[in-house]
Amino acid sequence: MKTVAVTGVEACEVLDLEQPKASGNFVVVKIMVSPMCTEYKAYKDGDLTDCLGHEAVGEVVDAGESSLVKAGDRVVAMPLNCCGKCNYCESGEFIYCQNRIDPCECSGNSTGAATYSQYLVKEDWMLVPIPEDISYDEGAMMCCGLGPSFGAMQQIDVVDTDTILIAGLGPVGLGGVINASYRGARAICIEGNPYRQELAMELGAAEVIAPGENALERILELTDGAGADKAIDCSGVAAAQRLLIDGLRRRGKLAFIGETGSDSLDLHVSPDMIRKGLTLQGNWHYPLTDVPELLKVIRASKDKIAKLVTHHFPIDQVQDAWELQLTGQCGKVMLDPWTS
Ligand SMILES: [Zn+2]
Ligand SMILES: [Zn+2]
Repeated sequence: MKTVAVTGVEACEVLDLEQPKASGNFVVVKIMVSPMCTEYKAYKDGDLTDCLGHEAVGEVVDAGESSLVKAGDRVVAMPLNCCGKCNYCESGEFIYCQNRIDPCECSGNSTGAATYSQYLVKEDWMLVPIPEDISYDEGAMMCCGLGPSFGAMQQIDVVDTDTILIAGLGPVGLGGVINASYRGARAICIEGNPYRQELAMELGAAEVIAPGENALERILELTDGAGADKAIDCSGVAAAQRLLIDGLRRRGKLAFIGETGSDSLDLHVSPDMIRKGLTLQGNWHYPLTDVPELLKVIRASKDKIAKLVTHHFPIDQVQDAWELQLTGQCGKVMLDPWTS
């Protein structure tokens, strides 16, 4: 099977590796679409690996001894590989599991953990069925396309009377615009890339503000001087996180979903949190119990999802796909393992 490997700084290859086999409740999924996420960073930095990716949708081709899925089922693979036994796993919050497992080791395979590949090995309970009326591209939004911002907006309870700030319009932030729009909230975004500014407006943003000196002033202008009700940070940039804290109203709520670089947020407990009454919340994914709710967002947002997914590349052209991601001139980019 074809599997992508990073072989040096901005260098990669498509390898031909052994196809994994099912074992127990570890089933084999033929990957039909592999959404591309932050792996371009490994390509840029030359982090040598042939185990790339954490997002995948496809068809179960060997269900092993599973009683949860069968061959032919269309499924989304949830990120990570978790124990299935701890309190977090049992409540559906597997993303916070502290006993992660190696699916290759557990299933006796030497391959099958990568999603930049043609086949994946996954424990059955981490596969979510895709309803018939939802395409693979749309189903793939249950991964990072709509997942993290959906989880964050559930946590901070974004409703139709809210004005929400969204900082950072990579694919996750753009997905946040779709989630905000589904909830009827007014989305004010902070992003400097003109391509992504325009895409956010097409997805339903009310306004996109470029980061910089006047950004806070503009946020306050747009919120009658009070500040916004809610905010999500999808940038991971400390200056943007600070801007969101300053741009929130008293009792506002902020969820962090963008992973930070090396700079740390300048936060002051008394003025920022006590006097202002802010709620600051970290959020990674969403609990499995919320899948039906996320499916509603996907069903209602099909036109927008078609705009968010700006490119598909055959797996053999993964280098072109990564080069594109490095320019930022794209929304969500998909890798197709079976087209050439
Ligand atoms: Zn667990
Ligand atoms: Zn992702």
